[in-house]
Amino acid sequence: MSLHPAIGAAARAFLEKQHQLIIDGKGVASRSGNRGKVFDPATGGVIATVAEADASDVDVAVAAARRAFEGPWAKTTPAQRARMMFRFAELIEANGDELAELESINSGKPLVFCKMGDVVGIAEMARYMAGWATKIGGETHNVSLPGEWHAYTLREPVGVVGQIIPWNFPLNMAMWKIAPALACGCTVVLKPAEHTPLTALRLAELALEAGIPPGVLNVLTGRGNPVGAAIAEHPDVDKVAFTGSTDVGRRIAQMATGNLKRVSLELGGKSPVIVFPDADLAAAAAGVSSSIFFHAGQVCAAGSRLYVHERAFDQVIDAVSKRAREIKVGHGLDAGVEMGPVISQRQLDSVSRYIQSGEEQGAKIVAGGKRIGDQGYFVQPTVLTGVEPGMAVHDEEIFGPVLCAMSFNDDDLERIVAAANNSPYGLASSVWTRDLRVAHKVARRLKAGIVNVNTHSSPDASLPYGGYKQSGWGRERGADVLKLYTEVKAVAVKLD
Ligand code: NAP
Ligand code: MG
Repeated sequence: MSLHPAIGAAARAFLEKQHQLIIDGKGVASRSGNRGKVFDPATGGVIATVAEADASDVDVAVAAARRAFEGPWAKTTPAQRARMMFRFAELIEANGDELAELESINSGKPLVFCKMGDVVGIAEMARYMAGWATKIGGETHNVSLPGEWHAYTLREPVGVVGQIIPWNFPLNMAMWKIAPALACGCTVVLKPAEHTPLTALRLAELALEAGIPPGVLNVLTGRGNPVGAAIAEHPDVDKVAFTGSTDVGRRIAQMATGNLKRVSLELGGKSPVIVFPDADLAAAAAGVSSSIFFHAGQVCAAGSRLYVHERAFDQVIDAVSKRAREIKVGHGLDAGVEMGPVISQRQLDSVSRYIQSGEEQGAKIVAGGKRIGDQGYFVQPTVLTGVEPGMAVHDEEIFGPVLCAMSFNDDDLERIVAAANNSPYGLASSVWTRDLRVAHKVARRLKAGIVNVNTHSSPDASLPYGGYKQSGWGRERGADVLKLYTEVKAVAVKLD
C-alpha cells in the first residue's frame, strides 16, 4: 500500500486494519467473505480494504438494530442519550486529526477543510442534535367534541432506520443522518458509499466508546446494489434516509413501497448564483469561485449556474477565471493545496465528457477545461461562458469544478428568477446584492430549499437543508429533521 507521508500514526494504523462490518457493536466478516479495495483518488493507489456486505448481512444488521431499538436504546432517557452524544462529539474532536487525515486521503479533499469543515462540523452537529434529545415532545390540544376531554400528542421514534450516503462528504453525510436519528431514539443501519467507507467505520467505533449501546449504530460497507437496495426494500426497516443522485433516489422511493417505509431524499442540484451589479463584486467573485471549485465541485449545493448582470459580467468572469488558474490543485495532504482530485476515473471521465459537450454545443472555455497529469483524477478548475438552456452543461448536474456562466441584461426580477428556476432541481442558491429589497424579493421567488445572500455557504446545524422539486423530499439539519425520525401519535381521553 502506498500511503501519503503526511498520514499520521493513528490513521496509518486504522488503514492497516482488517476492517469488518460493524453489527451489534462488533466487527464481523461479511457472510460471503468478500472484500473490497479502498483507493486514494489522488494516486489511484489502494489504501485499505473493507468487508463487502450483501443482502444477508443487511438482515443480520437490521435484526441487531431492532433488538437495540426495543431493548437497551428504548430504556435510555433522553438525557442519557444526550450525554452519550455529547461524549461522542468530544471523542470526535479528540480523534480529529486521525479522522481528518482519513477523510482527506479517501475523499481527496484538502486536509485543512477536513479539519475545519468536516470534523468541526460533525462535532457541532452531534452536539446540536444532542440538545434536541431532551426537547422533543408533543402538545396538548383543546378539542371541541361534546363532553370533557384530555387530548395530547406523543412524538415517538420512527424505529429502525436505514441510511445510505454518498462519497463527497463522508463524515458530514454520516453525522447529518446518525445524529438526529439517535436524538429521536431510533437505531441505525448505515451504508457509506463504496468509495469512502473508512470514516463511517471509525465513527461507529467512537460511538461505542462514547457508551452508545451495541446495535444502535451498525455500519455495512459494500455496494449500492445489493446493500443499499436491500436496506431500501427491507420489510423490517421503518424508514430510509438517502443522500445521493436523483436517479438512485427515485429508485429508493420505489423500493420502499413494499412496507411503505418512510422515505427522505437529499438529491442532486444545479444551484444558481445571481450577481447584481451593485454587489461587492470582489466578494461575489470570491464566493462564486469557492461555490464551484470547493471540493472540485463535488458538492450537491455547488453554485454551478452563474448569472451576472452584463454591467458586471466581465469583471466577475475575469476575477473568477484568474482565481481558477491560480488555485493550487494537488494531493489533499500536500501543504497549501486548495483543491484535490475528483473521486474516481468514472467521475473524471464524466466531468471531461461534460466539458467536451459544452464546447461542442457552443460554450466557450475561458479557464481550465483539461485533466491535470495522468496520475489520480485531477481536473482543472473550469469556467464556461456562452452557456444556454438546452446544453447538457446547463441542464444537468456535472458534479465537477465546472462553472457555467450566463449574463442578464435587464433589471426585470421575474425574468432573472425564471431563468434561475429553469431547472428540474431546487436545492441551493445565492444572491449577491447590497439592495435589501432585491435580496428578499429574489429569496421569495427562488424555488430552492436554501437561499444564501452575499455568501453561497451557510453550513450551520440549525438551518434546514434540502430540496424543492427533484432535489429531494424532506429537510435535514435544524428542528425540521426531527420530523423525519419521529411519528406523531394523538391520544384522546374522554373524561366523562
Ligand atoms: P449515488 O450513486 O446516488 O450513490 C449514493 C449512495 O447510494 C451510495 O452509497 C451508493 O452506493 C448508493 N447506491 C447506489 N446505487 C444504489 C441502489 N441501486 N440502491 C441503493 N443504493 C444505491 O450518488 P453518488 O454518485 O455517490 O453521489 C453524488 C450525488 O449525490 C450527486 O448527485 C449529488 O448531488 C448528490 N448529493 C446530494 C446531497 C444533498 O444533500 N442533497 C449531498 C451530497 C451528494 P455505492 O457508493 O456503493 O454505489
Ligand atoms: Mg454512484
